[in-house]
Amino acid sequence: MSLLKHAARTFLLSDFVKAMWLTFRYMFRPKATINYPYEKGPLSPRFRGEHALRRYPDGEERCIACKLCEAICPAQAITIEAAVAADGSRRTTRYDIDMTKCIYCGYCQEACPVEAIVEGPNFEFATETREELFYNKEKLLKNGEMWEQEIATNLKLDAPYR
Ligand code: SF4
Ligand code: SF4
Repeated sequence: MSLLKHAARTFLLSDFVKAMWLTFRYMFRPKATINYPYEKGPLSPRFRGEHALRRYPDGEERCIACKLCEAICPAQAITIEAAVAADGSRRTTRYDIDMTKCIYCGYCQEACPVEAIVEGPNFEFATETREELFYNKEKLLKNGEMWEQEIATNLKLDAPYR
């Protein structure tokens, strides 16, 4: 019986030493975690986050209402209505994305011939209600204005690989 006790004590002691050694080794290594949301990890230029509709630098909407994004969307999350504007150009009168349906495949961005609809770098757009995830054209254009600098940089970085 006492032999058994001795063996158990030795085992516990060796485990304790092993655990302490492990702690000591990791104490001086770089941290594997970050203090989110105060710290954020790096994002690839190809990251597919929240959608945005972009404008040209002079403020003109890029979208030409070709509806390719709507046609290719596998989740049928995009709804577009279009009309001819006063200057003869074709423009969307409605551009909705149901973000609750979206699977972030990026096909809409790939299909767009004028880099109008893009998936930007924003991943912090959780909402409290489902309705807030029904994006309309106004919301998407606002996203475009807010993230244009980051989106343009990411598209430029990714361009050589396309
Ligand atoms: S990312 Fe994919 S699923 Fe989402 S809107 Fe674009 S095409 Fe549709
Ligand atoms: S966002 Fe691009 S693909 Fe979609 S309708 Fe506009 S121009 Fe066409």
